[in-house]
Amino acid sequence: MNMQDILSMNLEQIQEAVQKLHEPKYRANQIYHWLHVRKVTDFDEMTDLSSTFRTKLKENFCIKRLFIAKRLASCIDDTVKYVYQLSDGQHVETVLMHYQHGWRLCISTQVGCKMGCQFCASTIAGYVRNLTVSEMLLQIDETERDARITISGLVLMGIGEPLDNFENVMQFLEILSDPKGRTMSLRHVTISTCGIIPRIRELAEKKTGLTLAISLHNPDNSGRSQLMPINRKYPLAELMEACQDYFALTGRRVTYEYAIIEGENDSIQDAKKLAELLKHQHAHVNLIPVNAIKERKFHATRQAAQKFMHYLEELGIHATVRRTLGSDIEAACGQLRHEADTQH
Ligand code: SAH
Repeated sequence: MNMQDILSMNLEQIQEAVQKLHEPKYRANQIYHWLHVRKVTDFDEMTDLSSTFRTKLKENFCIKRLFIAKRLASCIDDTVKYVYQLSDGQHVETVLMHYQHGWRLCISTQVGCKMGCQFCASTIAGYVRNLTVSEMLLQIDETERDARITISGLVLMGIGEPLDNFENVMQFLEILSDPKGRTMSLRHVTISTCGIIPRIRELAEKKTGLTLAISLHNPDNSGRSQLMPINRKYPLAELMEACQDYFALTGRRVTYEYAIIEGENDSIQDAKKLAELLKHQHAHVNLIPVNAIKERKFHATRQAAQKFMHYLEELGIHATVRRTLGSDIEAACGQLRHEADTQH
């Protein structure tokens, strides 16, 4: 029989499922508490349920786990990269970073990616599948268990395009922030997207309170389309309009990611075009010198990013150069990939 992945189910779905097993609905609250507050890994740990009911649960459901295939700790900062093996043998990467305010985790949302951004390693071996809700939750749980820490911030910036796995990501956010369970404030969560406009609009309607980050990287349609194929479908003017509407609806300011690539997007003209694009938005731009990946020739120094930051500041746009963390373990932005490539 097909065992149901109970960690991916929200409270309502568990309520329906226990009723089908002829148990009272309130049992679902107990199970949900064990799973999402106590974070047990076995039905036998649910000691306020009868052993017959626990057996019934075991016959119908499974509590999934992820296995640590590799753990790589950076020598230059506190960053740790986990390579997790999923139950079907696929792998994804998760990065734990230390910040002033605590621990931040960068999780993956898909095995591989179909977006095809030229500078990003996650897309090179193609797309395999979406992650399930439990596979996203478990990147947090398994990392917290292993590192013996509590995560205070979460970014959906690992492998994959979160808005291309919309339904699962929405259910993941619901369970993550549920007052009856994990209670994480979505103000501590950032979703980064290459710009899938209909999903940005849907997300805005949900008024979740999370931070939306747009991977911009080029202020010009033809340049951006070359770097990021998604721009051909959803060009800049429409993307900017969706971002303005996102702010108007949610009150949450959108942030922009801009990876400096020398000779590609770092000229004063680029800065002027970018300032023009963002002038109505009080936007914040996160600059990052593009991280090297072995298949591509893109490169940038920190100085180039700082120079671009000064251009922007003179044009009245707030910008910061982000720290690069974990570059020695290929844990930096755009360096994560799924197993097909990590084995070489
Ligand atoms: N698909 C989502 C999230 C994953 S990428 C997105 O596109 O936003 C997370 C961030 O890293 C994005 O801003 C992405 O553009 C950036 N990135 C990808 N490759 C990079 C590289 N080689 N150097 C620096 N940043 C990179």
